[in-house]
Amino acid sequence: FTGKTGSELLTENIKKFKVHEFQHVPVVVKESVSVYDAISSMFLEDVGTLFVVDNNSCLTGVLSRKDLLRASIGQQDLNAVPVHIIMTRMPNITVCRKEDKLIDVANDLINKQIDGVPVVKDTEVGLEVVGRITKTTITKAFVELIMDEHI
Ligand code: ADP
Repeated sequence: FTGKTGSELLTENIKKFKVHEFQHVPVVVKESVSVYDAISSMFLEDVGTLFVVDNNSCLTGVLSRKDLLRASIGQQDLNAVPVHIIMTRMPNITVCRKEDKLIDVANDLINKQIDGVPVVKDTEVGLEVVGRITKTTITKAFVELIMDEHI
C-alpha cells in the first residue's frame, strides 16, 4: 500500500497521459487547394481544423472554421482563392510531439485559445503531420479517466 489518496493517484495518472495514447488521424490539405475545396473537406471529414501541408507533406499552416467563414463572407470567388492566402502560417503554429504530455497540450489549447494542434514528427525537410489533438480528445480522456478505463 502506497499510502496515497485516491485523488493523488488520479492526479498522477492524468500527468502520465501521453499524446500518442490519444491522438487521432489528422486531416490535411495542400496549400494550393481552394478555400471552397477546404470547406468541402471540413464537412466530408467532419473536423473543425484542417492542417495545411506543402509538397513534402510538411506543415505550413492551419485552417479553422472561422478562418474559412471569414474568407466566405468577403466578395472573393472561393474557387479562385488558395488556402495559403488565408491560413495561419508557420512559424506561428502551436504543435506537439507524440511523447509530449497530454496535460501540456491541454494547457496550450487554453492559453492560446485554439481548438486543436497537429502532432508532428521532425524530419530533414520540416515537420511531418502525423496526428491531431483537439478539445474533443481532451474531453474523451477526461471521461475515460473518470470511468476508470485508462488506469
Ligand atoms: P475558430 O477560429 O473556428 O474559433 P480556433 O480557435 O481553433 O478556431 O482558431 C482560432 C485562430 O487560431 C484561427 O485563426 C486559426 O487559424 C488559428 N489556429 C488554430 N489552431 C492553431 C494552432 N495549432 N497554432 C496556431 N494557430 C492556430
